[in-house]
Amino acid sequence: MDELIFATNNVHKLEEVRRMLADVVHVASLHEAGLEGEIPETADTLAGNALQKAQWVWERSGRNCFADDTGLEVDALNGAPGVYSARYAGDRCSFDDNIDKLLGALQGVEDRRADFRTVICLMEQGVPRYFEGRVDGQILSARCGSAGFGYDPVFMPDRFAVSFAEMPMEVKNRISHRGRAIAALRQYLTTV
Ligand code: IMP
Repeated sequence: MDELIFATNNVHKLEEVRRMLADVVHVASLHEAGLEGEIPETADTLAGNALQKAQWVWERSGRNCFADDTGLEVDALNGAPGVYSARYAGDRCSFDDNIDKLLGALQGVEDRRADFRTVICLMEQGVPRYFEGRVDGQILSARCGSAGFGYDPVFMPDRFAVSFAEMPMEVKNRISHRGRAIAALRQYLTTV
């Protein structure tokens, strides 16, 4: 396989993933593939959303592609916000709104365990195949650090004493849910 279209409109994610797969496959953007528009994301699981996004590209282009979906799963909240992580505090909410809601929901809660999970759906000749990456950690009681995005300031991965927002990007990418899911995809691509 020489080329895969990545079903994302997030340019930062595109660059990060493109770099991680550079020696294995060319990762084409939606724009390069001539695809425009909002990709639907209405499933109620990470795998369902990843499939929906990859299918959207496959149906329009007939070209091999992949999509990812990520959620923050908090044990004490029965896995919430999960697949709804981006809009936990409502439609068009900010990262700060989401963190405020999360810290409020966990106020006084001792069990702070959580994980980030990424599911990638690779669509190869119309056949879906899934790859997963996960990182376990804790939700801090207040924000720490200013790097990264999303819930980074309040997520501290196991075996580290700092939040994702206090880590150099290379370290976060190496241990993160997305980094691990991409590594699994990379492993598959190098063996086919
Ligand atoms: P997406 O599926 O990658 O768009 O992620 C959905 C949501 O999960 C994002 O809007 C963020 O709120 C959160 N998220 C995903 N990845 C990360 C991360 O690496 N750090 C912090 N939050 C993240």
